[in-house]
Amino acid sequence: MAMSRQEEEDLVDWLSPLFLGSYAENNELLEKVLVELLRDHVYWRRNIHPEDRPQIPVLAETGPEYRRFVGRMKTELHGLTARLKNSAPFFNPRYIGHMASDLLLPGLIAQLVTTLYNPNHVTDEASPVTLPLELDLGRQLAAMSGLGTDPEREPCAWGHATSGGTIANDEALWYFRAVRYWPLAAARAMRQADFEPGRLGHGPADFPRAPDRELFNLSIDTVIRLRRELMADIDRRLDRRQARRLAEAIEGERVETLGMAEFHLRHPELGTPAVLVPDTAHYSWEKALKLLGLGSAQLEPVAVTERMRLDAAALERRIGELQARGRPILAVVGILGTTEFGSIDPIHEIVAARQRWRRKGLDFAIHVDAAWGGYLASMFHRPDGTLLGRDEMRRGFHLFPSEPVYKAFAALRHVDSLTVDPHKLGYVPFGCGAYVARNRGMTDFISQRAAYVFEDADTIPDAEYERRFRNLGQYILEGSKPGAAAAGAWLSHRVLPLDADHFGRLIAETIRNCEYFFEHIDQLRDELAGIARVVMPFEPDTNLVCLAINPEGNRSLARMNRFGRRLYARLSVGENVDIHSREFFGSRTLVHRHTLGGRAAERLMAELDLDPDTFVEEPDDSGEQADSVFLLRHTLMNPWLSGREEGLNYLDRYCRYLAQLVRHELAH
Ligand SMILES: *Cc1c(COP(=O)(O)O)cnc(C)c1O
Repeated sequence: MAMSRQEEEDLVDWLSPLFLGSYAENNELLEKVLVELLRDHVYWRRNIHPEDRPQIPVLAETGPEYRRFVGRMKTELHGLTARLKNSAPFFNPRYIGHMASDLLLPGLIAQLVTTLYNPNHVTDEASPVTLPLELDLGRQLAAMSGLGTDPEREPCAWGHATSGGTIANDEALWYFRAVRYWPLAAARAMRQADFEPGRLGHGPADFPRAPDRELFNLSIDTVIRLRRELMADIDRRLDRRQARRLAEAIEGERVETLGMAEFHLRHPELGTPAVLVPDTAHYSWEKALKLLGLGSAQLEPVAVTERMRLDAAALERRIGELQARGRPILAVVGILGTTEFGSIDPIHEIVAARQRWRRKGLDFAIHVDAAWGGYLASMFHRPDGTLLGRDEMRRGFHLFPSEPVYKAFAALRHVDSLTVDPHKLGYVPFGCGAYVARNRGMTDFISQRAAYVFEDADTIPDAEYERRFRNLGQYILEGSKPGAAAAGAWLSHRVLPLDADHFGRLIAETIRNCEYFFEHIDQLRDELAGIARVVMPFEPDTNLVCLAINPEGNRSLARMNRFGRRLYARLSVGENVDIHSREFFGSRTLVHRHTLGGRAAERLMAELDLDPDTFVEEPDDSGEQADSVFLLRHTLMNPWLSGREEGLNYLDRYCRYLAQLVRHELAH
């Protein structure tokens, strides 16, 4: 639905104070607030003990060493800022490359100012003020994803900031392994200690002697309850010393203590665990499996559909195959906004598959890698937290959200954990990702200290979790960590709450821009008719678009790819490229033959008028064949891309520029 003139004006009014602006239009606002808060910090220092006399002499600045130091500092700083002028200009609407854009002023200012106070979120002893804000950031992101955050009701979610999505993904697997391997360790320790627990409310009837495969296939929530019940039972039946000894024996049997090799030697029936990810998964997943010693070969790629979404039928087949081969499944990962295509995996189908397999005694944890697309969830919720209907949402768009996309977001509350990157679609400075878990009880398995035993087996009081997370460094992969990053994201969400009326409004504009680009690509096609073919291989799910461009008459994929690389060379930054020589900034990606699959590959080759025999898994030496298609990739996260005024619509301008570039490259 087209916006009325009034709606457009309202939107511009609403968007105007959000960022510094591509022309630094809000420079005075930024400067005034920064100077005010800087002075505020200065007064804070002076007021710690105002009676103390200053140690740096008033006339120190006249000393020769002092002046030499200041001189050196200024020279170096000017050198640095001179170099920085050739940075990628993320903030500019001419930048439609990587996952970066302008920074929201509230988050930027909060981070800069908090840095002056330098809190360390490893423990609240080093961050009494801001560490609770990080935990609140976790709640903000959990609530945006539809997870329960009420401490009175189980499960209660928790989350925290990480240095980025990569670490959050590592942590997800680290947590899953800790929880899902635990019952096997507990059973073995009980057998060796000849300990017979009483009847427990959860888990298998004969816990100590249950088969390893059964113990591995318990849900996360079941293991959490089972552990609490067992620890309480141990506490009841044994005296303090014996209880401590058994608790230590369980710790001694855990994979975290023994390592993967020794643990699996002691549990030969278990089989090698697999982690299932779509073919489009970010390479951080490979790193995660290497890091945890699971081995990247145990990453089982699942085919994707022609829309670059995880193929639910292929997932089902793969689970069946693994089960038949006796391989346990540690986790299935779905992606909300793939890095290369912005596609949305059918999270609801993964959740439904788990429901089905649970009935057959097979379980797996579900993690959603929403490093890119997590913030899209803000568009799906009203300020009171309830989910908007799809029809209601569709009013603001032409295509979005398609039914599978809507269902995927609606299913988020059923998954075990998520990765969300505030430093991507949250528009805060780099150094801020986040990990969010549906059930904070998972942290019972992670403490770097001895296990606690609680009176009440069913729940652990909220106060205990609060106290626990004040020692954040004991429950996460990182140690010392910048409080300023978390405070920036937290404050940003306070100013722009994560719902459809606030933050979602910003994200909605990026989706509308993508729809505009998608619908106007015909103009570029017409402009290049008879010169080159322009193909958008995948209808976008969100705000990322890829293009393939083939010179008319060319039939070889390898040649088209070489041509694409020449275009990209004019859209990229680099050490020896003067950024002022660039009209626009883009990025690129490759889509492999095996990812695309036979039918989609054929269709794409036909659309591009390429010889399908030049698109093969193993190219020959002719220089005509290739195993992947080179694509120009565009991240449309700047909300100022499609101004209606003449000259301010950067998407139209980009298309015109691209046409010009194609003609120019063909002429040379
Ligand atoms: C960016 C991204 C990551 C990695 O996040 P970093 O913040 O770069 O470490 C992981 N998964 C997906 C889907 C991403 O887009």
